Amino acid sequence: MTPEGVPGNLSLFLPKVIPMKIMQQEFRVSTRSRTEMADITRQVRDMVREAGVQNGDVILFCPHTTAAITINENADPDVVHDVLLALDEMVPRSNRGFRHSEGNSDAHCKSSLVGCSEQVLIQEGHLTLGTWQAIYFCEFDGPRSRTVIIQVRGE
Ligand code: ZN
Repeated sequence: MTPEGVPGNLSLFLPKVIPMKIMQQEFRVSTRSRTEMADITRQVRDMVREAGVQNGDVILFCPHTTAAITINENADPDVVHDVLLALDEMVPRSNRGFRHSEGNSDAHCKSSLVGCSEQVLIQEGHLTLGTWQAIYFCEFDGPRSRTVIIQVRGE
């Protein structure tokens, strides 16, 4: 049936309206050391499956100022070690110029360098991560109990 006011030949080009689902939840991550990259890919996969979204995307958001979210290699654990080492060398905790009274300015700087969110596409029910990619919660001022906010969107 032609929508009202749209000539019949134009209606061929109107996009099909597909209802989009949006599901937002939180989950906890307990970190065990001051700096750490915790693999949260399994939790994200489980929530995408629960949401029943076949095509869309998932957004991960870290609501903390001394932590972050990133995507990197999960095959060789030395990669995580080396990323944390490089961040330590870029932002030494002992920088005498730091003023922030909590003494965790290095963690605040690393949080901004790495970033507080990631987005991954969902295709036919699966995360479009590369073979060697995992989603990491990055702790820079642990150990602590942290929150990750996850939003799954799509159809
Ligand atoms: Zn602080």
